[in-house]
Formats: sequence, C-alpha cells, structure tokens
Amino acid sequence: MTLDLRDVIGVPGHSAAFDFSPELSQLLSESVRDIQGTPRARGVVRNDAGILTMRAEVEIRLLCVCARCLKEFERDISQTIAVTLSENEATEDDPEYYRIEGLSIDPGEIIVTELILRSEYRELCREDCRGLCERCGADLNLGECDCKPETDPRLAKLAQLLDSE
Ligand SMILES: [Zn+2]
Ligand SMILES: [Zn+2]
Repeated sequence: MTLDLRDVIGVPGHSAAFDFSPELSQLLSESVRDIQGTPRARGVVRNDAGILTMRAEVEIRLLCVCARCLKEFERDISQTIAVTLSENEATEDDPEYYRIEGLSIDPGEIIVTELILRSEYRELCREDCRGLCERCGADLNLGECDCKPETDPRLAKLAQLLDSE
C-alpha cells in the first residue's frame, strides 16, 4: 500500500489516514504457520510542527505452533506502532527513524518491520506448557505418562549409600 504524503510533508498540521489489510507473509516462521482472517492496519501520518510521525493500530490473528508441545493455537495480536519519519539523510542509520524517500511511504513495510522486531523468538500455547515427554512423546499437559523419570546412575549410588546408613 502506498500512502501519498504530498499534502503532509512540509505542511505542519496536515495528516493522511490509512486503513488497509497489510501483507504479512514475512511474519511466517517455524513458530508462526499462518495468518488467519483479514489482518487490519488503521492509522495516520501526521505532521506536527514539521515532525512526521506514523501511528498505526494493527490487528492480526496468527496460527502458531507451540515450541514445547507442538500444538497449533491461535493468537490474537493487537499492537500500536508509532514511529518517526525523517527525510534527513543523516538519520539513515538511526533506528529511531524511518527514512522517507520521495513523497510517499508504504505503511505496510514499516508495520512488517516493526512486527518482526517485536516477534517472539518462540511461541508457547501457554506460559506453563509442560511439553512432550522426551521418551514416549506423550503430551504432558494431559497428564503423566508411564515413563520412569531418568535417574543419574551416580545419584542412584549415592541414594543407596545414604539408605544403607
Ligand atoms: Zn504447548
Ligand atoms: Zn513418556
């Protein structure tokens, strides 16, 4: 999506609004399998006394895979993204700014970049997911499996010594 900023750049007090469905396939990863439904991004680029900012409310539903139990689950994300835009070449490498070239921006590109920066390295179906048994593969959230807990042979020996006293 291209947002025309001809009437905003250099015109303090002006703004340009947007409301569209961003293309988010770049968010797909080992832990994010799919984007569900229609993601939505609403926002505005504003010129406040010569400083350009973009603010967007993003609503997405992701289909994730739990890193521990491998179960698929949906996660609704609603995030506010606020960035400062700059036409100044000096800000090229400054992570605080998004560089604008020309008289338009692609809000979708900025949104994807920000979402990737904020994304979780791995997703969990819940904070205390117990995962799968390493030996039989049973889902431990559903209860204990029949596997005996692995004991370190050296500790077993120590336990015997302590027992015999
Ligand atoms: Zn899980
Ligand atoms: Zn097991």
